[in-house]
Amino acid sequence: MKLLDFPAYLRDTAFRLLPHRARTGLFPIGDPGPGAPVLVTGNFTLTVRRLRDVLAGQAAWLLVVNSKGFNVWCAAGGGHLTHHDIISAMRVAHLADKVSHREVILPQLAATGVERRAITTATGFETRWGPARLEDLPAFLGRGSRVFNAERFMRFPGWERQEMAAIWYAPALILLTPILWFALGPAAALAGSAGLVVMVATLFAMLPRFNPLGRWRLPILLGFGLFGALAGWGLLAASGGATLWPLIAIGTTNLIGTGLLFMDLSGTTPWYPSVVNTGANPATITLNEARCNGSGDCVMVCPRQVLKMNGRRRKVEIREPAQCIQCGACIVQCPRDALLFRYADGSTVEAPTIRNTRLNLLGKRRTLHR
Ligand code: SF4
Repeated sequence: MKLLDFPAYLRDTAFRLLPHRARTGLFPIGDPGPGAPVLVTGNFTLTVRRLRDVLAGQAAWLLVVNSKGFNVWCAAGGGHLTHHDIISAMRVAHLADKVSHREVILPQLAATGVERRAITTATGFETRWGPARLEDLPAFLGRGSRVFNAERFMRFPGWERQEMAAIWYAPALILLTPILWFALGPAAALAGSAGLVVMVATLFAMLPRFNPLGRWRLPILLGFGLFGALAGWGLLAASGGATLWPLIAIGTTNLIGTGLLFMDLSGTTPWYPSVVNTGANPATITLNEARCNGSGDCVMVCPRQVLKMNGRRRKVEIREPAQCIQCGACIVQCPRDALLFRYADGSTVEAPTIRNTRLNLLGKRRTLHR
């Protein structure tokens, strides 16, 4: 990442809870020829930015598909990114005229809403799942577009949980400022807002994602700290100390909130049952073994390594059911509809329902309108 890109990165990261649309279309990365791989992604600005950074030095085509400004996982899970969107993007970009091969690489996390066989049927292009995390793309491309099993696992390292916790500051800032303004006056509102902005910027500046800033990282961090201290001191002096308690209250609330979200990140997503989101989708992934033909499509898209191929029996096995987050990707991709969700009362939800419904932010399924 270039230093000048930092403010834009910060903005896109701080507001990543909101949809933010990047331009759609087919874009060259490096100097791709007609034989270069085609990577598909959604038009969430932050993802496109990060992809461009991660793929620096590679030669590839990036097909940015309209996902309504959401990231790929949320968009596919919520019905905002489907195979119809990808087929449409391929046609609009005249992909068949631009490349000499007939393959596109799909983001694995799109498997909850993108039926890959429909893309092949409509366009003649074969599809292949890429790794779950975009950081693994250079290695994936380097070994001829092959995914290692470990790269299918969706892990959440500590620094990413910290980032996910910090992204709640931006909406909090928007809500809090007018409340403080009316309750305590403009000085307190400005002090609170400045405190939040400095905290968000400092948190993000510490993240490994900004490592490419290299020698600029420490000066930026110190700069934010200095700005925060000066802003706080100036406001306190101007208000005769009246903003001290609101500042302390806001800072303490922020720290407690960040800590709770850090520990219970899963509560902020519909798919992970957690302390906050206790009853989300209490279903068990179940295999109808008689239908399974051992294609392994489900194993390739499971982000939690719940499923495993038994090569000797040529059947899939459910190895770690407790790890299942009920994303439904395996059910959507199974060519024989061999997987389903079973609930405690004995009721089941099978593939046609999963394919025609999507999860909303509360973890409830709604019918997909195509
Ligand atoms: S086994 Fe569970 S976590 Fe894995 S793809 Fe299927 S629904 Fe998702």
